[in-house]
Amino acid sequence: MNAVQPALATLRLIMLGPPGAGKGTQAKILEKRFGAAQISTGDILRRHRSEGTALGKEAQAFMDAGALVPDELIVAMMAVELAGRRSFILDGFPRTVAQAGALDALLERLQLPLTGVVLFEADRETLIRRVSSRWTNPRSGRVYNAESHPPRVAGIDDEDGGPLVQRPDDNPETAAVRLETYEAQTAPLVSYYRSRPAPVASDRTALLVRVDGLQPIAHVTATIVSDLAIAGAA
Ligand code: AMP
Repeated sequence: MNAVQPALATLRLIMLGPPGAGKGTQAKILEKRFGAAQISTGDILRRHRSEGTALGKEAQAFMDAGALVPDELIVAMMAVELAGRRSFILDGFPRTVAQAGALDALLERLQLPLTGVVLFEADRETLIRRVSSRWTNPRSGRVYNAESHPPRVAGIDDEDGGPLVQRPDDNPETAAVRLETYEAQTAPLVSYYRSRPAPVASDRTALLVRVDGLQPIAHVTATIVSDLAIAGAA
């Protein structure tokens, strides 16, 4: 067995999984540790909403209902976000097979192959409970959980000292709809990516790795880092 795994030079990851499974939390940790930018479509859309842009206004009703914003709007938004980047951690995109196809075409044109797809797994009950007890920093997108990962001071972000909010779609009813949306429209991406090979600069065989989203945060990070054979892993 070779203990030293070949390093991936650049992270180009997709965080795939249902709401509340830990995608955003892990994307932020990996961003800080490895310098690849987290691109969260949900955060970008919420920013558009708070700034009152045309996109924000169009997206509003879909988001509040727990439905997906139409593919054309998301794909156009992501083409702008990805321009000029060599590394990224996609959090919440792609969410449909059509979005995945558009991403493939874009990355092919830019000659930037994906280096990994991380699939977060968790049961439905836990996800609804987690999402319903989630507190978010609307400025950074950083999330806390009142039960499992509380801030030091209730309602206040540990990092910037500003107020935390509960997202309007983070309630049990909308969370249940969002999970149904995930199962119907996003879960097919598991078979879309499952049979793809890992990048050549890696001794992994598959592009997609699975993590148990119910494990403690640090454990999930360690699993991702070791399963993806990321450079600098302990
Ligand atoms: P999130 O913050 O990832 O939970 O996303 C919040 C909401 O934004 C979702 O419920 C969707 O309405 C919308 N959204 C985020 N990402 C996408 C996407 N890739 N495609 C369509 N809608 C999205």
